[in-house]
Amino acid sequence: MNENLDLKESSLFGKKDKPLIISGPCSAESEKQVLETARSLKEIGIKVFRAGIWKPRTRPGTFEGLGSVALPWLRRVKEETGMLTAIEVANIWHIKEALNHDIDILWVGARTTANPFAVQELADGMRGIDKPVFVKNPINPDIELWIGALERMNKAGIKNLAAIHRGFSFYGQSPYRNLPQWEIPVELKRRVPDLPVITDPSHISGNRKLIFGIAQTALDLDFSGLFIESHYRPEEALSDKDQQLSPDDLKNVLSGLIHRKSEIVNTRKMEELNEYRRQIDQWDDELIRVLNNRLAISEKIGHYKKKENITILQTNRWSEILEDRLSKARKMGMSDRFITQLFKNIHQESISFQNRVMN
Ligand code: PEP
Ligand code: MN
Repeated sequence: MNENLDLKESSLFGKKDKPLIISGPCSAESEKQVLETARSLKEIGIKVFRAGIWKPRTRPGTFEGLGSVALPWLRRVKEETGMLTAIEVANIWHIKEALNHDIDILWVGARTTANPFAVQELADGMRGIDKPVFVKNPINPDIELWIGALERMNKAGIKNLAAIHRGFSFYGQSPYRNLPQWEIPVELKRRVPDLPVITDPSHISGNRKLIFGIAQTALDLDFSGLFIESHYRPEEALSDKDQQLSPDDLKNVLSGLIHRKSEIVNTRKMEELNEYRRQIDQWDDELIRVLNNRLAISEKIGHYKKKENITILQTNRWSEILEDRLSKARKMGMSDRFITQLFKNIHQESISFQNRVMN
């Protein structure tokens, strides 16, 4: 499916090789913190300043933002530095307050995107507003919900849209606070090619040490920008302390990033790449043929099992297959994870085939 969003080209995302960098504190905590952070960010060339005014915290009793009293500080940031300002809005009141204080960009938070009632209310509240709106992915890995939220905004007349990839919730352990699941924003780019996608390495990582790697991956995937939390004194931050960068550290992260070209201009190099791609295409054709042959044999086995009245799943045989394929693939340097996933899928499809034969 290809979505038809009616989008307007935004000057925020002008240059292909110049990703938009948005930065600022998780939360606006004091006038001094906001202004000092903004001044340092301005010095390192940041053009858009973010700050949380109302904070959707997981547990009550943690810092939930200062609310409207912090909005005049953002106006000062604009006046003093010329940066654009961006805040999260989660209800109609937030939108009204943002408009009253000349906020330039509104974003929809991950918890809000997951709730179509809330998104529809926001979209209705934004009707007729000519400001960029960025929609974070929902906390659950559901691309339809993400696209649905963008569609609701778009149907309300908002054409200056972008998506923010901030990772997905999970239960268990991981080096990340939220799993990046890159395949989801990549699929979003495929389905809505004109929509800029920005990555938020701060909320993906939850840890400032991991920000660089995530940011580099986003650039390597040709995403349109980065959304990174920064604080003039990260160690004193009232929310998301471990993931905020000082403006100096942000400068280092940004200057270390490698910007690759999204297209090859040199035709000789293009020919080289095309030759590799032709080879990949051929191998993929071969893969499909091989898989089809394998499934045809599975089907024959299905008929045999039916005739002899034996169960489809033979656990020993399946363990043997997996062990054997893993040990062969290991010798060629392929990862256990890859081979296990691949053979689980192949085995599952064989079972489905035999199920059809038998029942
Ligand atoms: C934020 O950007 O400060 C925030 C609350 O993010 P998310 O909605 O991604 O959790
Ligand atoms: Mn935060």
